[in-house]
Amino acid sequence: MEEKGIEFIRLQFIDIFGVLKSMNITPDELDEALDGKLMFDGSSIDGFARINESDKCLVPDPDTFQIMPWRPTEKGVARMICDVHNPDGTPFEGCPRWNFKRVLREATDMGYEFNVGPEGEFFLFHTDDKGRPTLEIHDKAGYFDLAPIDYGEDARRDIVLTMKQMGFRIEASHHEVAPGQHEIDFKYDEALKTADKWVTFRDVVKNIAKNHCLYATFMPKPFAGENGSAMHCNQSLFKNGENIFHDPNGDYELSETALYYVGGLLRHAKGMTAIANPIINSYKRLRPGYEAPINIAWSNSNRSTLIRIPGRRGKATRVELRSPDPVANPYLIFSVMLKAGLEGIKNQITPPPSVEEDVYCLTAKQRADLDLTYLPRDLYAALKEMENDPLVEEAIGSHCYNRFLEGKYKEWNEYAEQVHRWEMDTYLRKY
Ligand code: GLU
Ligand code: MG
Ligand code: MG
Repeated sequence: MEEKGIEFIRLQFIDIFGVLKSMNITPDELDEALDGKLMFDGSSIDGFARINESDKCLVPDPDTFQIMPWRPTEKGVARMICDVHNPDGTPFEGCPRWNFKRVLREATDMGYEFNVGPEGEFFLFHTDDKGRPTLEIHDKAGYFDLAPIDYGEDARRDIVLTMKQMGFRIEASHHEVAPGQHEIDFKYDEALKTADKWVTFRDVVKNIAKNHCLYATFMPKPFAGENGSAMHCNQSLFKNGENIFHDPNGDYELSETALYYVGGLLRHAKGMTAIANPIINSYKRLRPGYEAPINIAWSNSNRSTLIRIPGRRGKATRVELRSPDPVANPYLIFSVMLKAGLEGIKNQITPPPSVEEDVYCLTAKQRADLDLTYLPRDLYAALKEMENDPLVEEAIGSHCYNRFLEGKYKEWNEYAEQVHRWEMDTYLRKY
């Protein structure tokens, strides 16, 4: 920090609901911070703590130290991602990052390294002359379009360059299918690092977009009738440096372990939906016809199913879970995915046969023959499924589980009481 003239350190963490929070300190406080002595009021963070047990401490992870390249280079700003502890130094059960480490240990104990590669989709909107987001999308381009119709070119370029400065390896960036929608994919890494990187990615996108007078949103479905945004999670398990999902002699060149992992994910697909798709708006994305999953099925390459096995094999063999959206808390959804997959391996859960048909177009009879069931159709249904799946509670810990359900039922009830524009347009004159 001395070398780089850093004068501010942001101590970051994300709350149960996936929102990035930060406390700034100066280098004078760094020693105290590294010793985990910096307290904050946990009761002011949604879902964290009650007022009578509210003191919590931030414990920065020095491995996550990064300079924030979009802040001034003179008297610069760096950040570290933190775990949250109790004042007595014990880990706080409600800290999603600490909880994920707990679940990761189960994989490590089985000799596995868990890798995740996410794909990040988001929308860019114009801002008004006061810098506030407008509802005006910033371009009308589509999949893989180029400038001049792709207005996101410069912002995306800047986002990619900034991420590279922060140590990301970028695999691809492009305009996505919907107007104003963009995608940036970065290389897979050990899952904890990927979760940290996802948090960083969202922060970079929002800040760089702002510098281009744009507003970036990860809200899953800003427009009816257009594709929404996903956070596809490409997952694999390595053992002694080898990808154990690959078996050159297996069906689809997949190992039994990979199939059991898929079996576990499918078995807990309903229960994990509220974590993968945590807001009311998430369920507007999970509709037929927009490349988002609606059915609990897996396939070799089909983009209409919940799980797909992308084409590459060897070290790149992976299971792509397509339901998570970009507002999901990465630590929580990674915890549940991993736990479900490991459960599949431990109990040798064989998945049903893969479905290679376009599931959006199946008749009721075909669906019944394939024994296809739907993902929960709204947040309320997803919360009910979560309550019926004890694995989700084991995966995210009782604190996160109970606070999440409480907060989300409240969100659902608020929404359910609203009278929406669609209802007025449809019913007012008709009845
Ligand atoms: N945007 C699509 C979704 O919401 C995914 C498109 C893709 O396959 O990259 O799931
Ligand atoms: Mg995409
Ligand atoms: Mg994908």
